[in-house]
Amino acid sequence: MRILLWDIDGTLMRSVRNGSYKDYTIPVLEELFGTSGRLSDMRVSGMTDLQIVFEALAETEISQDQVRAQIDRLCLRLTEEARRVTANGAPFFELLPGVRETLQALHDHPRYRSALLTGNIATMAQLKMELMGLDQFFTLPGAFGDESHIRRDLPALAADRIRKHLQIEIPPEHFIVIGDTPNDIDCGRHFGARTVAVGTGRFYSREEILACEPDAVLPDLFDVDVVLRTLERL
Ligand SMILES: [Mg+2]
Repeated sequence: MRILLWDIDGTLMRSVRNGSYKDYTIPVLEELFGTSGRLSDMRVSGMTDLQIVFEALAETEISQDQVRAQIDRLCLRLTEEARRVTANGAPFFELLPGVRETLQALHDHPRYRSALLTGNIATMAQLKMELMGLDQFFTLPGAFGDESHIRRDLPALAADRIRKHLQIEIPPEHFIVIGDTPNDIDCGRHFGARTVAVGTGRFYSREEILACEPDAVLPDLFDVDVVLRTLERL
């Protein structure tokens, strides 16, 4: 059996408009901390949600401890605000090509089980899966951005949960981390998992992704057979 640990943004889906997460993040930071720091100028692909907040506020008088002290409220308000801005019917997120078909084929395949491994806070990941109608494919517990602002911590957290959930030992190399950024590949390798880079992210070139030496590279998840053949040898 192989456990697939999926990144969300740039791998399964993306915002229709680049940077639109700022629509719901900036007002929440202003509400809670009186400033959104330098968020409006940041490029954030591959960072966890909390890392984004820490970076945005790094040069303000708001300390990381002050952010941590408000973490529950921050997560709640970010998710509420995201739910509000995505509820007006205008397309906000879109699935990347082939994602539903690929997740379905893997769901039906006895060798694979899927979980989320994302820098999104858990409630935000849940909202995105709901909006895209993907929640039924992730039958194992994952790891999320509100659990650590360091992505490298996340695979071990997910793996522990999954081992407990299935009540079996699963070695690190039977996990496969799938994502679109160097951070995804780095966190997978740090844990000892296999890694697959997909080329559907907005921010990194093929050369930048290849330089991270993932175990496999896919241009996208469009061709289910190509995805299955690629995963088969990992
Ligand atoms: Mg991503």
